[in-house]
Amino acid sequence: MNPKLTPILQALSPLIEPKLKWQIGELNLIKEIRFEEDGSLYVRIDLISDSEEEKQAFTQAVEQALAPVYSGRLILNLFKVHVALNGLEGVKRVVLVGSGKGGVGKSTIAVNLAAGLQRLGYAVGVIDADIQGPSQPTLLGCKDKPQVLSNEMLLPLEAQGLKLISTGSLVDPNQALAWRGQLVSGTLLQFIRNTAWGKLDYLVIDLPPGTGEVQLTLAAELKADGLVLVSMPQEVVLGDVRRSLDLFQEKQIPILGLVENMASYQCPDCGSIRELFPHSSTALKGLEHLAKLPLDPALALASDQGHPLAWGEGATAEALVDLAKKVAAKLPI
Ligand code: ADP
Repeated sequence: MNPKLTPILQALSPLIEPKLKWQIGELNLIKEIRFEEDGSLYVRIDLISDSEEEKQAFTQAVEQALAPVYSGRLILNLFKVHVALNGLEGVKRVVLVGSGKGGVGKSTIAVNLAAGLQRLGYAVGVIDADIQGPSQPTLLGCKDKPQVLSNEMLLPLEAQGLKLISTGSLVDPNQALAWRGQLVSGTLLQFIRNTAWGKLDYLVIDLPPGTGEVQLTLAAELKADGLVLVSMPQEVVLGDVRRSLDLFQEKQIPILGLVENMASYQCPDCGSIRELFPHSSTALKGLEHLAKLPLDPALALASDQGHPLAWGEGATAEALVDLAKKVAAKLPI
């Protein structure tokens, strides 16, 4: 983008969409902005509102906002959006984090992958789609309810710059337990699409455990860019996981690789490292190892404190940031 456009974009972004009553930058409604050959400035902004009065007031607000940074001719195109907003429009990459079973550390890895990507300088969001056992609000120390912008759109919460939506804050997990696959994937998709994510480099989705129909439907419908699989080395159902990974690949969802979690333990007294299980799984041979993480009390503690370890220091924190680097290298923006 022409660097002269940056202050103009900055001046426009905080303006408020009259219907949704939220910043147009956050809602990703500034669609085009450029200098014409004669030097005039062309700006196209999508609006949900179609009231003439609101449009006039908005035009004035645009002119006022631009006055300190631009004094030339303005061609302002306010475009009425007819369809419901697609909250994912400004998201560049969707990364899924899945596991064969619950309890292997999937949510812990998902939040730390998101925090690691953020530490690398990317704009990141995380969705807790583990509808029956939501844990991201605890992991990020952020238990507020998201704000509803209109009847349809939600505004994600923010935990130190990381955007978050948890299905757990919207659906009672006890109720969700009774839901069948199609209802689960339909509801999750609705939440994800109806959230005003704004501009994000990566959106990390903490999937429900398992690699069945719900996960496959979500992956395909969201056109996910890749799946990170989390497992423990002794996970007994890995044969099934292998088969479902083949299904993901058939649906053109690349498997980015495997995170082997809780694979070893470091003795706090002598510092020696013990492998906890005799062998890595053979069922997942051929999958790239993105990270091998030890059982680390610091990781569990950081999670309980709502401050992902990937924001902290130490060997495990480094391994988590390294995982984020590998994912970013596989899915460049
Ligand atoms: P899942 O999402 O697969 O159900 P969680 O991420 O909720 O699993 O992790 C289960 C428990 O294990 C949590 O209490 C978490 O803090 C802990 N945990 C996960 N990975 C590690 C690790 N490498 N070292 C120590 N504790 C861990």
